[in-house]
Amino acid sequence: NKPLVAVVGRPNVGKSTFFNRIVGQRLSIVEDTPGVTRDRIYADGEWQRYAFTLVDTGGIEIKSDEELFQDMRMQAEIAIDNAQVILFFVDGRQGVTSSDHDVADMLRRAGKPVILVVNKIDGPSNDAIYDFYDLGMGDPMPISAAQGLGIGDLLDAMVAYF
Ligand code: GDP
Ligand code: MG
Repeated sequence: NKPLVAVVGRPNVGKSTFFNRIVGQRLSIVEDTPGVTRDRIYADGEWQRYAFTLVDTGGIEIKSDEELFQDMRMQAEIAIDNAQVILFFVDGRQGVTSSDHDVADMLRRAGKPVILVVNKIDGPSNDAIYDFYDLGMGDPMPISAAQGLGIGDLLDAMVAYF
């Protein structure tokens, strides 16, 4: 069985954009409306000599009581339970939010290896990543899922956990 990598984070941080780029197909819906990935979406990916399965989870909205968000949260937790490593996505343009802290707490309880991915770093400056040290999830890695920047370094860090 291939290692499973879960892409996790609050809605609208760019999880599905990243997922589609890695699997080379538009399997996941990219939307400005938060929370469009309602189910777990799995696809195979490859990097260097490693094959893996990537799962795009819906955004985790921990404080919402709405049924949809409850369901997405459960789906994400199932994915996290089965994952070898978790890519924790945050939005470098928005900065740290309280939802990011909630997700970080949940991931700490899960006790799985986590890579903190700061997405939407579209330009040459990485200054936006430093605030994310607050989450206590180690060194933030800058990427632009839309522009395809930083992806190789991220995948190198990811396969190191296989
Ligand atoms: P998800 O809810 O976490 O799956 O996020 P999506 O992949 O649906 O993306 C949410 C929004 O962020 C969309 O409008 C994307 O086009 C945009 N987005 C995703 N990645 C990037 C990026 O690297 N840079 C910028 N500027 N926008 C991005
Ligand atoms: Mg999505």
